[in-house]
Amino acid sequence: MRFTKLRLNGFKSFVDTTDLVIHPGLTGVVGPNGCGKSNLLEALRWVMGENRASAMRGEGMEDVIFAGASTRPARNFAEVALIIDNAERLAPSGFNEADQIEITRRITRDAGSAYKVNTKDVRARDVQMLFADASTGAHSPALVRQGQIAELINAKPKSRRRILEEAAGISGLYQRRHEAELR
Ligand code: ATP
Ligand code: MG
Repeated sequence: MRFTKLRLNGFKSFVDTTDLVIHPGLTGVVGPNGCGKSNLLEALRWVMGENRASAMRGEGMEDVIFAGASTRPARNFAEVALIIDNAERLAPSGFNEADQIEITRRITRDAGSAYKVNTKDVRARDVQMLFADASTGAHSPALVRQGQIAELINAKPKSRRRILEEAAGISGLYQRRHEAELR
């Protein structure tokens, strides 16, 4: 599975539809302060099912919707699509029917988030589980926020273990066990 494209529409500063093509070997995105580099990484986290507004540097999840500028009115929805190359058919079962997987998350003011996988409606949990089984996701140790290294050093053993579990690729199992215990 390889991420090939991230498409943003009305997400934070990306008011017009913007495609970030992720060519093999892409190692950096550069630009002046405030141009939207961190917003790109947040869009990636968000489409994978992030549900903490604080991880999006917002107070509520609707803060990811383009809030308007002097020359542009605010938008009523934000949408991010992540396109994944699955030609080698390595996707977790249930998502492994096609050569390409397109995951879409859309948030509408007052109506919350809706997810799709290849145009089929799915639950947030399905998307989170897809990425957890693929050893990635919104909490992937590969996505390092500013200040996160210091957090890791100061973390309590329990939260540090959570990070190691993500890295070991067993957090999907952990999530399932937690759900089984709730039933
Ligand atoms: P730096 O180099 O300082 O880290 P950056 O390239 O990472 O900058 P971002 O933090 O991604 O920049 O982008 C910040 C910009 O996004 C700001 O100009 C902010 O106004 C804009 N922004 C954030 N949320 C919204 C929103 N909901 N609507 C419109 N613009 C937004
Ligand atoms: Mg930044």
